[in-house]
Amino acid sequence: MTEIRQIGVVGAGQMGNGIAHVCALAGYDVILNDISEDALEKAKKTIERNLHRQVSKELITPDEMTGTIDRISMNTDMASFAAVDLAIEAATEKEPVKVKIFESLVQATPKSAYLASNTSSISITRLASTTDRPERFIGLHFMNPVPVMQLIEVIRGLATSHETYEMALALAKRLNKTVANAEDFPAFIVNRVLMPMINEAVYTLYEGVGTVEGIDTAMKLGANHPMGPLQLADFIGLDTCLSIMQVLHDGLADTKYRPCPLLVKYVEAGWLGRKTGRGFYDYRDEIPVPTR
Ligand code: NAD
Repeated sequence: MTEIRQIGVVGAGQMGNGIAHVCALAGYDVILNDISEDALEKAKKTIERNLHRQVSKELITPDEMTGTIDRISMNTDMASFAAVDLAIEAATEKEPVKVKIFESLVQATPKSAYLASNTSSISITRLASTTDRPERFIGLHFMNPVPVMQLIEVIRGLATSHETYEMALALAKRLNKTVANAEDFPAFIVNRVLMPMINEAVYTLYEGVGTVEGIDTAMKLGANHPMGPLQLADFIGLDTCLSIMQVLHDGLADTKYRPCPLLVKYVEAGWLGRKTGRGFYDYRDEIPVPTR
């Protein structure tokens, strides 16, 4: 098995910055890549803020924090991936975007490097088949926020080798995460169960069964969920929620997965949740205010 020393992460959004954070904290050298300089700037601030929070909670030492920051480099040029042992793609949940990234990764990384995708829903077998090394390709589905959440869903494509799977298990262990194995079917386990619930919450809003606050309060106090489904949707990103529903709808060809038109409308408006300041709630002031 190729020993993992250097990890390249593509996409510096909500997930990419978290993946870079936990990998660097575990001692790996990390290169974080994005097409947007702004995203990299924002990721740097987020990583530093989250590391400071971990220090103040005495989860890590100040030395571990500075070591972690020093181990992360950032750039917009994938040529910097020439010596990575593993590349983890965590870019926008759109298959054509990911396919293009893997085309570049095949060129930029050594032939011995493993390739992984953090996709929430897209077929690992299909993504792997667009590369020159489907046997070294695997799904590593981290949860948001990565430094806090315990789980990595590991998805093997049809061609994924046992060695690649062993690499994933060793990585998860070093990151102090727990693995759940999922078969490579649309949206795997977590989002196959979670996303239809979120979509149904949007339908209850769309049909006027409840208000944003009513639906979230009902599910928090009535089903003991730590977060209401609409609050959670905003946290995940409404564009990501919609893309996952589309993958379920297309991949399983069952009308029960049809995305709610209201979810589509929010995405069309660019109201994508916390990351854009507005979704089912407006986050532009200190206290979030429901937008319906
Ligand atoms: P995000 O919108 O916060 O970030 C996506 C980033 O990808 C952006 O910074 C964008 O500039 C970058 N990007 C787009 N095209 C690129 C390219 N060609 N090269 C390099 N960077 C590019 O999205 P996110 O929430 O971080 O989600 C990223 C991935 O993680 C998606 O596949 C999503 O399904 C998955 N995921 C998301 C969550 C969640 O809760 N948000 C949880 C688990 C997995």
